[in-house]
Amino acid sequence: MDAPVAIPRVSGCGPLTGETGAGARPLRLRIFESVRAAGTVPRAGVAKDLGVSAGSVSTLTAELIEQGYLQETAARASTDTVRGRPPVALGVRPESFRVAGVKLADRELTGILLDGAGGELASVRRKATPGALPLAQQVETLAEVVESLCRDAGVSSGALDAVGVGLPGFVDHERGHVFWSPVLDTRDVGFAAAARRRIGRPVVVDNDANLVALAELWFGVGRDRPDFAVVTIEHGVGTGIVLDHRVFRGAHGVGLELGHTKVQLDGALCRCGQRGCLEAYISDYALAREAAVALGAPDGEPRTVADLIARLHDEARAGNAAAQSIFDRSRRYLALGLANLVNLFDPSLLILSGDRMRYDGPFVDDTLAEMRALALNTGNGVPPLKVHEWGTLLWAYGAGALALSRATEAALGAARDAGP
Ligand SMILES: [Zn+2]
Repeated sequence: MDAPVAIPRVSGCGPLTGETGAGARPLRLRIFESVRAAGTVPRAGVAKDLGVSAGSVSTLTAELIEQGYLQETAARASTDTVRGRPPVALGVRPESFRVAGVKLADRELTGILLDGAGGELASVRRKATPGALPLAQQVETLAEVVESLCRDAGVSSGALDAVGVGLPGFVDHERGHVFWSPVLDTRDVGFAAAARRRIGRPVVVDNDANLVALAELWFGVGRDRPDFAVVTIEHGVGTGIVLDHRVFRGAHGVGLELGHTKVQLDGALCRCGQRGCLEAYISDYALAREAAVALGAPDGEPRTVADLIARLHDEARAGNAAAQSIFDRSRRYLALGLANLVNLFDPSLLILSGDRMRYDGPFVDDTLAEMRALALNTGNGVPPLKVHEWGTLLWAYGAGALALSRATEAALGAARDAGP
């Protein structure tokens, strides 16, 4: 009788996770991040939050204070205030870091300068040169924005710890590589390296929708949520998803491109070069393409996308059935995309972001109703759909958070400590 086929012999069992888990992060980095998140917190609170001994927190906070990263500050008034001596808490020393965050786009550029505690030192908005531009030109624009922020804040650009940059398109955050972006005229460019050579400071890049997820995670409604998804609809469609308090990017940084998931075989042409992408049915340029056909150009003048969208809204409000059907179809495609996102990730919250007048009451209610019909029929319903309009600095704040995160890890993450 033949022996049964043996299970392959291996050493050990269970996933080989390596040192990638949160527990592998140096304790001093975790302490700093814990204090930054709290704003002001007593030492005992940090030890409790991190589940480590008060002794190890005291030793490392003393070092962080000495090195200029943390400072002692008066604790917020509380019921357990000891009479006679104000309680002392920890806070991030604002001067600990200086970072810039910039969002490159084809309509408006925004930038922000943040201190180590996330305080805004300067901000800038300027009109962008539309269209796909050479790498050197975009890098030069980035450098000008950074220099203007530094001038406004009275900070030397040489003192910046990092510059965070957001671009639309397919971006490999880890390598600083851009596979494709509508603001660049060539594919496969080493954007971060080129920007670093020009600016002379560390540069970190990311997809711009991930920046919105980061902005919500660092400054917005996502701070206390382990998982949520952000969908941005502007000139294109972007998606950022947070899982376990971290932005999920996939193996090559291009995960969660909801806008380029296919909703129609051989469908409408997308900016990415492929057909049938969700973006090709719901983004501004997709609506403008239909508006140009439905409404024509009575005066024979070529129209910009913004003009066409504004006119489409006017016509829809005035009862033009063709204009209304364009919005209705776009909204149904959006609901389809969001329902797919819910079916894949089951997030606790969906945030819609972008400067769009279509986000009025009926739009959200109609979209939710459509989503309910398409999402898994488990009785759980669909997650709340929150329309969040931060204004134009939203993206720049996300880029600032990206830079702050990189600067902090570079300064405090390199040296390993003994840990708890
Ligand atoms: Zn596409």
